Amino acid sequence: MTKVIVYGSKGRLGQALLACAPNFPNIQIVGQVDLGDSLEAVIGQADVVVDFSSPKATLGLVKCCVAAGKAMVIGTTGHTLEVRAEIRREAGPIAVVWASNFSPGVNVLFHLTHSAAELLGPDFDLEVMEMHHRLKKDAPSGTAKTLAEILAGVRDQQFAGEETYPRQKVKKAYTSQGRRGDTGGRDCNEICVHSLRGGDVAGDHTVYFAGDGERLELTHRASSPRVFANGALRAAQWVHKQVPGLYSMGHVLGLV
Ligand code: NAD
Repeated sequence: MTKVIVYGSKGRLGQALLACAPNFPNIQIVGQVDLGDSLEAVIGQADVVVDFSSPKATLGLVKCCVAAGKAMVIGTTGHTLEVRAEIRREAGPIAVVWASNFSPGVNVLFHLTHSAAELLGPDFDLEVMEMHHRLKKDAPSGTAKTLAEILAGVRDQQFAGEETYPRQKVKKAYTSQGRRGDTGGRDCNEICVHSLRGGDVAGDHTVYFAGDGERLELTHRASSPRVFANGALRAAQWVHKQVPGLYSMGHVLGLV
């Protein structure tokens, strides 16, 4: 049995986790924590804390889990690069699955994106587009950032900063906020990420490989937040049995 605390329990994903948990006979929810609730009161009963809250909350939560010796699943997105680095440092003593997306389909998309970028080579222009529901707080999505990082990694490029536009950007860079203003023609080093918001879209992601005379598009569409909740519960069961370390959803699914 894996005893789980849902952190951010009143949110969209928190509610989806609570709705999906009965489908996992080996998972028992021992705590539901949201703003105003006491984590300290319940953390002692848990094996794993699952975080779908706010990017401002994750680092403090990691420190609590390390102090209590509890494993974690981190689903929250929108952390700054500095906070991401600090989470990585602090989480060393515990087992953590940290994923920008828990759906099996998106994790296969990560693999296909890597392969397509390698196979098509540098002559194809790379762009990423994502769409999410009107209530999503961060942009671009963590998944879109992961896709851009995969593409940049294949091309040995580095992140150029969220407010970097083509006019100012350095060579060997990808940008994360689309385009605006007098951008001039497209530079072959650009990898731009574009964010759409509206309705109740659970999460759409498309990677474009645009060449001369042809275009390849890889698209994943999530139709329910339950796909992320089921993946995160699967990750909670898995991480409970792991030695300390930082793991991805690819590890859980056996893809890496
Ligand atoms: P939401 O705004 O509906 O819910 C967040 C919940 O966290 C709210 O109930 C809020 O009160 C609570 N919360 C905020 N700060 C807290 C704190 N300090 N302590 C305890 N609770 C706190 O958001 P959501 O749609 O459920 O998404 C939550 C996070 O998960 C976002 O960062 C989102 O981008 C991410 N997400 C990740 C995946 C994935 O697969 N990794 C999928 C969907 C969403």
